[in-house]
Amino acid sequence: MATTAQVPTSFGRELRACLRCRLIKTYDQFRETGCENCPAFNMDQDHDRVVDCTTSNFSGIISCMDPTRSWSARWLRISRFVPGCYTLAVSEALSEEMQAVCEDNNVQYVPPKHY
Ligand SMILES: [Zn+2]
Repeated sequence: MATTAQVPTSFGRELRACLRCRLIKTYDQFRETGCENCPAFNMDQDHDRVVDCTTSNFSGIISCMDPTRSWSARWLRISRFVPGCYTLAVSEALSEEMQAVCEDNNVQYVPPKHY
């Protein structure tokens, strides 16, 4: 696992947020290197999963370069994730198929509360 997530190279419509950890990168970055927090999704191997596991439907971006010490990271429950850009909230949940992948890999997944 990388120690720091890639920072988005552009801030446009191709930005997507991981549905599990809320990391924000561009579509191409997820395709090329997957999600640094969620290697179980294998997005860099299985490119269809980029669409399954990320969403372009999110609001708010914070960049968090020291998640272990930041209050906002604790509040967002990302303190154990790699430094990077995160969104405050995603409105979609992972598909049941991908939730099963999480379970198979002993990866914790917390669905959004108001889904
Ligand atoms: Zn992720």
